[in-house]
Amino acid sequence: MAIDFGLDEKSVLVVGGTSGIGAGIAAAFAEQRARVVVTGATVREVEAADSSADARMLDVRDGGAVERLIAGFDKLDVVINCAGIIRRGAEHDPAAFAEVVDINLNGSMRVCASARPLLRQSRGCIVNTASMLSYFGGGLVPGYSASKGGVMQLTKSLAIAYAEDGIRVNAVAPGWIATPLTQALQDDEGRSRQILDRTPLRRWGTPADVAAPVLFLASDAARFITGAILPVDGGYLVA
Ligand code: NAD
Repeated sequence: MAIDFGLDEKSVLVVGGTSGIGAGIAAAFAEQRARVVVTGATVREVEAADSSADARMLDVRDGGAVERLIAGFDKLDVVINCAGIIRRGAEHDPAAFAEVVDINLNGSMRVCASARPLLRQSRGCIVNTASMLSYFGGGLVPGYSASKGGVMQLTKSLAIAYAEDGIRVNAVAPGWIATPLTQALQDDEGRSRQILDRTPLRRWGTPADVAAPVLFLASDAARFITGAILPVDGGYLVA
């Protein structure tokens, strides 16, 4: 990335940074010479993470584990909430619905609440991960849609509440990004065609496409931006 976002030596935590969009964000911060810690939900994902990354295991359903992880930081400037799951077709089962909401929404809140004291000291910021399904309903994914609608409202609410601590809270709302989470859709020719037909920029996004706007939101260039939900979607939302 040719642009210098002034993030050298910033201490950055990317929750869900072992895969997909989170891994792309972590790599982008590392290129900016930030000090980055990534987390993944399983030992396998942690071991498979980019070998240059400081990768830790964290299940965001476990509030105690979230607190212990964050207690290990002396300083924290930027927190990225990028952990998320989808259970396409299974989320009408209330147990599956609850699990998706617990990870995507409650997990984000657990991380924000635990990180707040350290972010207050650094006058840092949070970037959450919303979705197109923060705006639209999803008949096959009611839990995912509810969680992402919630992430949007959580972001706005914490932006107001944490402003008194000098902490900015924003979110990106990625469109259709090629990652393991969307592999089934990428493999479904008909569905992939529908997505591309509605996306004015006519391609699937990449984790790097989402990472650059996250760097911006975390940088001093965005110092007067809080509570914003930034679509990064090739125009899908307006088409
Ligand atoms: P991914 O499957 O590649 O990565 C998901 C990450 O979340 C992994 O690091 C995984 O370890 C972590 N994770 C899963 N369950 C967890 C748990 N219980 N506790 C802690 N971490 C857990 O998916 P992705 O596509 O990179 O998605 C990242 C985020 O972006 C998610 O919040 C997802 O909803 C969101 N998103 C993705 C797309 C897309 O098109 N891929 C679009 C909009 C939003």
